[in-house]
Amino acid sequence: MKFGGTSVGDVAAFERVCGIVANQLDRKPVVVTSAMTKVTDALLAAFEMARRDRLEDAVASLEPHFERHVEITEAFFPSDAENVFHNELRLARQEIKDLLTRAARRSLPLQMLKDAIVSYGEQLSSRLLAEALKSKGIRARTVDSRRLIVTDDEFGAAQPIIDETNELVKIELTPLIEDGEVPVLGGFIAANRGGETTTLGRGGSDYSAAIVAAALGAAELQIWTDVTGVMTCDPRVCSDAATVPVLSYEEAAELAYFGAKVLHPKTIKPAVDSAIPVRVCNTSEPELTGTMVLADSGEVPNKIKSIAHKSNISILRITSARMLGAYGFMSAVFQVFDRHRTVIDVISTSEVSVALTLDKPDNIDKVVEDLSRIGEVEVEGGYAVICVVGEGLRASTGLAAKIFNTISDVHVELVSHGASAVNLTFVVRESDAAAVIGKLHKAFFSEKVNAKSESCDLTK
Ligand code: ADP
Ligand code: ASP
Ligand code: MG
Repeated sequence: MKFGGTSVGDVAAFERVCGIVANQLDRKPVVVTSAMTKVTDALLAAFEMARRDRLEDAVASLEPHFERHVEITEAFFPSDAENVFHNELRLARQEIKDLLTRAARRSLPLQMLKDAIVSYGEQLSSRLLAEALKSKGIRARTVDSRRLIVTDDEFGAAQPIIDETNELVKIELTPLIEDGEVPVLGGFIAANRGGETTTLGRGGSDYSAAIVAAALGAAELQIWTDVTGVMTCDPRVCSDAATVPVLSYEEAAELAYFGAKVLHPKTIKPAVDSAIPVRVCNTSEPELTGTMVLADSGEVPNKIKSIAHKSNISILRITSARMLGAYGFMSAVFQVFDRHRTVIDVISTSEVSVALTLDKPDNIDKVVEDLSRIGEVEVEGGYAVICVVGEGLRASTGLAAKIFNTISDVHVELVSHGASAVNLTFVVRESDAAAVIGKLHKAFFSEKVNAKSESCDLTK
């Protein structure tokens, strides 16, 4: 059972989580929690302040967040004698201050310090949640994820070493579970082989939960969040989005990758590999089933399931007539992206040119410099990727035509279809994206929703 940041955001949320876990004790749950909402952002901001020699501001900026933890302790352990968390918090404050001081002095590699600092969000929330569960009579026990999840040294986006992790998860957690205890782990955080703290990337708690579920061969992975499952569209964008009851792994993976934040893109993999069903449900509406993600959701002709989008996209085009009829062009292009560790989202090719999209073009200048040796390069920002997902795309003819007819007044820059049979992905100008999503949502989900979906808001 993985609880996201808003699910452990305040006293009422902690109460709800305790109720949800208590209801499923007979299923022998393992709990994985995110940091309390906004805490990860605050720790990252404090790190940046410290690095820019604003140490005092950095330390002070965290105080309101420590206070939010104190509020939980006061609600769950009204008497000071029971309050074992006070000491933890005092120590954490001191340790974070030391780490921020080191960041200001640059006395350790900064990426390493950043992960050490940001890990306190989940270290604190997991200890606090275990104590809250105990206060309700549940035999909970914090287990430090950094002893279980072993990763490489890629601070900030570490990759788990799966064999070693599986072994440790089983050794550490199985005896507790068999003994009727509920292990409570912080998501997102891990350690490399040298024992230094690493993190799995933003939103990575889902991934931690999937890794643990796979290692234990869990019957189900439950992702508890602030929406009722995966919806027909981000509900912050279209207010009348509806829950999708069943998704296939393939559909969920495409949606997650193309911007549906509700599932971390990597979550799907360990669950797919171990054939574990994933359920996405709402902490505020625990009685609703939410979305089940299953190996196979069944094809429904002419139906799409959901629309995802990613903003802030740049299109890069590379053209080289020299390559006409010659092999090795693609290989040369991809080697450049490989060398600069740059991720490509959507790609479309012709004989002499390639167009592709990039979502974090940090080192774009270097990529362009290297690509310029192969051909003429053009980069343009201000685009959005729209991804329409559904097994129905595999099962029906004419669905793509219906999609493009619906938005026939919009200029489509790039289209990709066929690599995965369940998605149709295209790129439009960022300024057109809200209207495109609104029209598609209305055209494909109008039986469930009312016509007001035509106006969507991408600013939320
Ligand atoms: P948590 O903190 O629980 O991990 P996230 O903020 O990572 O939660 O993910 C939940 C959010 O994902 C929702 O509040 C919603 O705005 C967003 N989201 C984006 N696309 C979708 C979608 N298709 N269905 C449901 N939620 C979505
Ligand atoms: N707390 C981390 C983040 O905000 C991980 C997570 O919530 O999944 O990115
Ligand atoms: Mg999340």
